[in-house]
Amino acid sequence: MTTDLETENTALLQFLYACPAGLVEFSAAGAIGMVNPAAMGLLMPIAGKPFVINLFDVMDTCAPELRNLVQQFAPPQGTVCDGHRIVTGRGERSTILACSIVKLTQDRYVATLADVTEQVARERRLKQAETWFASLLDGVDDVAVLSLDANGCIDAVTPSTTRQTGFTEAELLGKPFEWFDRSDRASAMPPTGEAIAVAQRDGWYLHEGWHALANGGRYWCQRLVAVREESAGAAARYTLVIRAVTRQGRDTADLRRMLTRDHLTGASNRAHFFETAERQRVRALQDRGSLALVVLDVDHFKRVNDEHGHAAGDVVLREVAQRCESELRPEDIFARLGGEEFVVLLPGISLMEASAVAERLRASLVREPIDAGGIQLCITASFGCSALDTDPTASLAGLLAAADGALYKAKRAGRDRVAVSNADQAAA
Ligand code: GH3
Ligand code: MG
Ligand code: MG
Repeated sequence: MTTDLETENTALLQFLYACPAGLVEFSAAGAIGMVNPAAMGLLMPIAGKPFVINLFDVMDTCAPELRNLVQQFAPPQGTVCDGHRIVTGRGERSTILACSIVKLTQDRYVATLADVTEQVARERRLKQAETWFASLLDGVDDVAVLSLDANGCIDAVTPSTTRQTGFTEAELLGKPFEWFDRSDRASAMPPTGEAIAVAQRDGWYLHEGWHALANGGRYWCQRLVAVREESAGAAARYTLVIRAVTRQGRDTADLRRMLTRDHLTGASNRAHFFETAERQRVRALQDRGSLALVVLDVDHFKRVNDEHGHAAGDVVLREVAQRCESELRPEDIFARLGGEEFVVLLPGISLMEASAVAERLRASLVREPIDAGGIQLCITASFGCSALDTDPTASLAGLLAAADGALYKAKRAGRDRVAVSNADQAAA
């Protein structure tokens, strides 16, 4: 006879095995009770052998702190760590894992492991791009270069440093570089040691804030702490670049715009959409909420270009973006996927609600013609919707494909209409 408990256990096991995230159940001493295939795939290369028995032993080379984190966590249950980053392997073969551990009972823990290597690389590239743009946009007055020892204390300075700060070399040597931080209410300083820790982990660290001057004043600057390549075995040392910037605040907003917006329509760009959408999808899963996508494609747009010119086409695209955005909530994201195709990210929205939103967008396009330099153009678009509530296991790519499939249905059915994804088909 199968009891309810057995049924529940079987269902749980099936879920654990199918779960795309790595899951490990283990004891306070690290002894592994259960590990699903996804976690096995992540742990085996670290262990270097085809079986793993103790989580702490496996992680000893790359994350020895896990043992302490778990054993020093006193509450009877709760979150031990959340998204703790673990770097495994070296160089090109290195992988970055995000590890979250939950204490279930006194001797029972569950860890989730996810490979976030690509996500981290993306974030880093975005930050790097920001740094480069910042260097182009900011009015750079002067650059000071300092050398820091393994503890973050200044051990050499360039003449430009004394020129920029007014401090003599003797005054600067031996001081922790953070000693020169001057916080104010608007710019909270990061905790001491953070710059070195982050530089150690990521290779570099960037911060903008006030810095002291010898005359008692202060100036706004950008500081880059970068790890210097050292011979094997030697403790890392750091290079600190301090750049005085004359304009603060405004450029950062401009930059963000340049990096996240589509230049023609002002809608979000693809990169920003995909990053936000993936974050929202994960959040929706955690909160058991929904998330919907609406993909739209302007109908017979090629004709607009062919009959009225590319410039008229551009006006249409801008107006389509503007009309749609004005129908959406601040938390929705309206992005240009490419050409005359757009996508809307609707957090917390079910498939049926998404179809109503799409219907509103459709109506806003046909309500009145678009004025393209004196020519009145009647524009329609076709819409496809998909959502997590009808397919909770869908990946972002899966949701997008489902919405695209629905859009194709709308096109075939005669355009200027809304279609929703067929969840049964999507799940099959
Ligand atoms: P359908 O109803 O099937 O979607 O037909 P369509 O004509 O809209 O689709 P098609 O994919 O054949 O044509 C899209 C056109 O969009 C072709 C391309 O030249 C034009 N296009 C893409 N990007 C831009 C842009 O930035 N500005 C302008 N003006 N046209 C663009
Ligand atoms: Mg089209
Ligand atoms: Mg198209």
